[in-house]
Amino acid sequence: MADIKTKGIVVSEMPVGENDKRLVMLTKDKGKIVVFARGARKTTSMLLAGSQLFAYGDFVLYKGKSAYTMKHVQLIESFHAIRHEIELLAYGLYVLEFGEYISEENNPNTALMKLMLKTLQVLVKGKINQELIMRIFELKAMSYIGYTPCVTHCVECGKTDMLDAFSNQLGGVLCKTCGVVQKSTVAIRESTIYTLHYILATPIEQLFTFKVDDGIMDELKRVMIRFIGYHLDHEFKSLNFLLKL
Ligand SMILES: [Zn+2]
Repeated sequence: MADIKTKGIVVSEMPVGENDKRLVMLTKDKGKIVVFARGARKTTSMLLAGSQLFAYGDFVLYKGKSAYTMKHVQLIESFHAIRHEIELLAYGLYVLEFGEYISEENNPNTALMKLMLKTLQVLVKGKINQELIMRIFELKAMSYIGYTPCVTHCVECGKTDMLDAFSNQLGGVLCKTCGVVQKSTVAIRESTIYTLHYILATPIEQLFTFKVDDGIMDELKRVMIRFIGYHLDHEFKSLNFLLKL
């Protein structure tokens, strides 16, 4: 079996045996894969830095029968600063956990990887509200796996104004008239709908540059948590932790 070279990020780690680690990595070429890093817990190991959570780099991997083995790593970014603050770390772990959950084995999603890296970089920089960073990440990530809410017009009648409700079942926003007859909708203001639209329509590079007021922030959170819960039906440990902070 030949070695493969790929860019990748470590999204989960588990100690194995005395000195080894079992990692889950998202890679540019192979999607989500399990990688063993032999001896990586020894302080002298060449793999030490590159087998930590958040480690992003160029990896050389050997493909075995059921998993890969890490042979070499050239670290590009360690995101070490993310460990300096418990809240920051929790947000970072949520990005990894979310990314891992929605990724598929042997099915690369480069857009998602790029989004995760950008999100972690912006978190470390600390210039933008962390909650807003998470909502941007969640909405973009959901859209990359096919869950893009309709936020430009009423999903029932097509009207583009007087939009004031959001429905998970129908997959987007509703106008005043259509909203009243639908069950389990959540109220949403036009400014929040505009923010959702802006996030979906803007490339990642230009995305982490805006601010919103607390009202929009609260609505974004309510809408996104419900939207994710509806489609993924998964409990994120790191999110539960964040909600308790
Ligand atoms: Zn309508």
